[in-house]
Amino acid sequence: MSEMPSVSFVSLGCPKNLVDSEKMLGLLAEAGCAIVGDGSGLGDVLIVNTCGFLSASRDEAVGILQEAAEHKRNGDIQRIVAAGCLVQRDGQGLMKDVPEIDALVGVHNRSDIVRAVTGRKRNELGSSGGADDSVLFLGEYHASSWTEANRSDQTRLRLTPAHYAYLRMSEGCNQKCTFCTIPSIRGPMHCKGVDEIMAEANELIADGAVEINLIGQDTTSYGQDIGYDAGLSGLLKTLNTLDGAHWIRLMYAYPSDFTDEMIDAIAACEKVAKYIDIPLQHISDRMLKAMYRRVTRNETEKLLTKLRERIPGVSIRTTFISGFPGESQADHEELRKFIRDFGFDMLGVFPYSNEPGTPAHRMKNHLPPELIDERVDELMLTQQDVAFEMAAARKGKNFDVMIDDYGEGGVYPARHEGQAPEVDSVVYVEGGEYDPGDIVTVRCTGHRDYDLLAKPVDAGLPILQ
Ligand code: SF4
Repeated sequence: MSEMPSVSFVSLGCPKNLVDSEKMLGLLAEAGCAIVGDGSGLGDVLIVNTCGFLSASRDEAVGILQEAAEHKRNGDIQRIVAAGCLVQRDGQGLMKDVPEIDALVGVHNRSDIVRAVTGRKRNELGSSGGADDSVLFLGEYHASSWTEANRSDQTRLRLTPAHYAYLRMSEGCNQKCTFCTIPSIRGPMHCKGVDEIMAEANELIADGAVEINLIGQDTTSYGQDIGYDAGLSGLLKTLNTLDGAHWIRLMYAYPSDFTDEMIDAIAACEKVAKYIDIPLQHISDRMLKAMYRRVTRNETEKLLTKLRERIPGVSIRTTFISGFPGESQADHEELRKFIRDFGFDMLGVFPYSNEPGTPAHRMKNHLPPELIDERVDELMLTQQDVAFEMAAARKGKNFDVMIDDYGEGGVYPARHEGQAPEVDSVVYVEGGEYDPGDIVTVRCTGHRDYDLLAKPVDAGLPILQ
């Protein structure tokens, strides 16, 4: 390949992986690779940034890589590069599943993406066809690997719409939840400094972002590994001074480390969205203990009550795991009743996934998959009732939304402050002429399932307070 190869990219998994994808695309573009967008054919090289959190994400990645192998056999592409969490978790296994892969890039080696794209092909390694260092950019987490190149997410090529962006404030995790593979993939928690985060935020705002979604594996532990005593509340107060940001949204909070200072900072900082994403995973003390969540039901309820009391109008999103080993019918009923009674604004339920290498995998009393599916459905139906009641209660209310897209037929998809991008319900705004990122005051006229319907207040509708 004389000149730099053209590249197409598939980004799988969570927003943290998406930021890695954006950064790798930035590095490739800087190196002179043409980036071939969705729907405009394939580049010389196809990169798949994989997710390795659950077996289901593994199946998805292997499926896409096998399709890529087909394209390679047909000569549509010349090279396959696999990157990301599944590579970090089981790169060699992946190469066995898809021998056509030419290079592997682990999560701690993303700055090697250009070498992986331009280096030698596996089958140029003589008859063995084995893999050697020239195509494996893989290493375990080590403090030394958290270099500026791997830490800074600046100069990325963004894949989200311009008006919102993800800002990763830390990577890795120090928690030890017994069902989770992430610490074994991403390593212990390692944070960016406040100045680095501010520099990234300013770059994203200069690039058109008015909404900054703060991400990490456990955002409430921010600063503990870099001696930043002010922690998350200090960071939020600093980010609140940003010019040009409309919403700064906190995702991936961890319940046991949520302090009063953090609650007060969210309440007091006008640019910090009155929105909390706080995965709770369960509510029965028996299950919380078995999951090693380091928090009790009582502490969880106290925290949630405090959040609602001290942050007026706050929206709370959470996720639960259903079917954890040993979960009794009583545990399940306790969770269902809690969902019914507390009334979360946004909620997701995941079936327990039996991940090799986790302590939960070695536990006894694993539940049959059909029972797990049944319980997931029961919890989601319970939440559906709650969500539809909440949506109906918004009818006639006025609130601000951020336009997310141009939509069709004069109806614009948008979100209010209590709705995060890509994971929560939306508001459909009928009428007006807007651009993505515009803030519009609307009045809710009804709902369609989880989504709200609204009209712009300035459309001559009477202001109902
Ligand atoms: S907080 Fe728990 S579930 Fe989340 S990444 Fe860390 S170990 Fe995994």
